Amino acid sequence: MMRQYELVERVQRYKPQVNEALLNKAYVYAMKKHGGQTRASGDPYFSHPLEVAAILTDMHMDESTIAVALLHDTIEDTSATKVEIEDLFGEDTARLVEGLTKLKRLDLVSKKAAQAENLRKLLLAISEDVRVLLVKLADRLHNMRTLDFMREDKRARIAEETMDIYAPLAGRMGMQDMRDELEELSFKHINPEAYGTVSDRLAQIANRHAGLLEEITATLRGLLADNGIHADVASRRKKAWSVFKKMESKGLSFEQLSDIFGFRIIVGSIDECYRALGVVHREWKMVPGRFKDYISTPKQNDYRSIHTTIVGPSKQRVELQIRTWHMHEVAEYGVAAHAIYKDHGAAGGEGKPNGKAGGTAAFKDTNAYAWLRRTIESLSEGDHPEQFLEHTKLELFQDQVFCFTPKGRLIALPRGAIPVDFAYAVHTDVGDSCVGAKINGRIMPLVTQLQNGDEVEIIRSGSASPPAAWEALVKTGKARAAIRRATRAAVRKQYSGLGHRILERAFERAGRPFSRDILTDGLGRLAHTDVEDVLAAVGRGELASAHVIKAVFPDFQDEKLSTPASAELLGEGWFNLTDASGMMFRFPGDVPAGAAANGDGHAGAGAGDSDRTLPIRGAAGDLPVRFSPEGAVPGDRIVGISTPGKGITIYPIQSPALAAYDDQPDRWIDVRWDIDEANRTRFPAQIIVTAINAPGSLAEIAQVIARNDANIHTLAMVRTAPDFTEMIFDLEVWDIRHLTRLLGQLRESDAVSTADRVNG
Ligand code: MN
Repeated sequence: MMRQYELVERVQRYKPQVNEALLNKAYVYAMKKHGGQTRASGDPYFSHPLEVAAILTDMHMDESTIAVALLHDTIEDTSATKVEIEDLFGEDTARLVEGLTKLKRLDLVSKKAAQAENLRKLLLAISEDVRVLLVKLADRLHNMRTLDFMREDKRARIAEETMDIYAPLAGRMGMQDMRDELEELSFKHINPEAYGTVSDRLAQIANRHAGLLEEITATLRGLLADNGIHADVASRRKKAWSVFKKMESKGLSFEQLSDIFGFRIIVGSIDECYRALGVVHREWKMVPGRFKDYISTPKQNDYRSIHTTIVGPSKQRVELQIRTWHMHEVAEYGVAAHAIYKDHGAAGGEGKPNGKAGGTAAFKDTNAYAWLRRTIESLSEGDHPEQFLEHTKLELFQDQVFCFTPKGRLIALPRGAIPVDFAYAVHTDVGDSCVGAKINGRIMPLVTQLQNGDEVEIIRSGSASPPAAWEALVKTGKARAAIRRATRAAVRKQYSGLGHRILERAFERAGRPFSRDILTDGLGRLAHTDVEDVLAAVGRGELASAHVIKAVFPDFQDEKLSTPASAELLGEGWFNLTDASGMMFRFPGDVPAGAAANGDGHAGAGAGDSDRTLPIRGAAGDLPVRFSPEGAVPGDRIVGISTPGKGITIYPIQSPALAAYDDQPDRWIDVRWDIDEANRTRFPAQIIVTAINAPGSLAEIAQVIARNDANIHTLAMVRTAPDFTEMIFDLEVWDIRHLTRLLGQLRESDAVSTADRVNG
């Protein structure tokens, strides 16, 4: 165990004017309080806070933070109280120790809603005093290092929590070393086999190439020195977790991972960074697409460096990071480095660190702090905390891309974000009205993945509302939530419009007046609080129009509620209609013998017409040819399926029925249309129409079909909801354009809710 004077010496090494008395007092107090307590490993308990303190000395933290580390478990596990600590160490220290104690009791594996709330509390505590984060992470790191002594079930839980929350949080705060080690240790416990395999391979490679690594290091150092740049060059070993993650996400084998070699060049100034880059690129070929300048555009967590990959002296791909000493400190210690550099200021603070310890004021100027505040806000807005937690977790993991508005405002988005995300990041209204995007001045698809530095201009339309499908395409939680909201509102509006039309007709049929005010009177009896709700419920088919009439006019006698859909639909208009249009309707069970299905019961136009030749090329000779039930029309891509003894059935290529023949390639026959323009005929197509239940609906639909020069061959009807009937028509149409136009006209009809091709 580290002695008292050893701890003081460690701090003195980077902070000569350290308050020794404070460190000594905290050391003695914590040691006495923990007394004879032991850890799962059998070590004295006090070894734990001491190790946590040691981790923080590695990060060059000041004595107040070290003291908090020494005391961090005293309130939780010993007789110590906040009042006592306040008396001995002051209010500041007591508040921090108490805060850490409370956070410890937050069980992050509890229910998801509680988890989100706990995460929010943690982030809030960090944003108030960054030392909370530093001690918390050091505490977690030491617990992870000694996890082997824990019970196995606890081990997995702690490792997963570390991987999900603490490691990404460390990364977010720019503490790369901390993140790496937390991930490695979690990986080892979550997936021991993968960890073992990958780290063995990495060790083998390091051994095999030990000489090469030294050679490259020496070459780089010499080359830079020749050009007057004093630089520290070191090779860095890849971590098992980062290698494993890459293999998994890119589906690569170990052998395919080319950039196992990584080097770091550390120089004195930003100017030297770019000069070093120039020297390296002049000497060796750079690998295209791998160059990143995080000095001019720092990462969200304030990370700065130049990254490039070159084809090195031995034709190996070599990854290089070029940075200043100060950037190096920030890259390793993140927000902790900002605490150290308080007296310098980040901009002027180049050169080797001189170890001045400082407070946390500079922390508030960092991007990491801004992220923290944003995340806290989004967590407290949460009407769905578990969703926010999910998004936060995801966003913790993701790298960022930085894009700009035309006016130069920086918008940070997770990698993989699309212009829709950008639009919502600018403002919800911009997202809701987004219809297109210009990326760097060119109109690009809205699904384009944004790249660092893209300038994005959102094209808006006053009347647009976001398509529901966007929800699956966007990357940010904000966009997803907003699209869901807008979609819900739009769908509701559609349904209430439909409901309005249904009720108008139903009331008229019942001989009752209809208006929104009249509906208001019936709200109580309908168990709804507003008229829109009633209209939407009717539109969705959840509420029958007859019930609404009865609610508004209790004296209303409803004879029609029990009448079957078809009769209600046919109404009086039916017979007139057949006369007028000259069309023939056949109902199931009433199919004339001559037109009855041939073979396996497929009914389709032309199917019963045995002496008619179908205009299809490829279906050879005398084989009977017929259409599948859904029909096929010129313009469809078609395929034939042969059935021994029965001939060939023509399917449109999108027919789901074809899946049944996937494993029988010899039954598939290439066919194509062979239309005789001079002698045109109609072709079968099956459509499905959802109609609103009201007298005359069917007549109206039939009229639309007739007006569009199509024939109805058969019709089947099923009542699907109180106010809807589903109708399946077997039509005869000229071709795909004809059919498409017809469907469009049907959709415009007031009687129609939806109209689509079967298996279209
Ligand atoms: Mn602890």
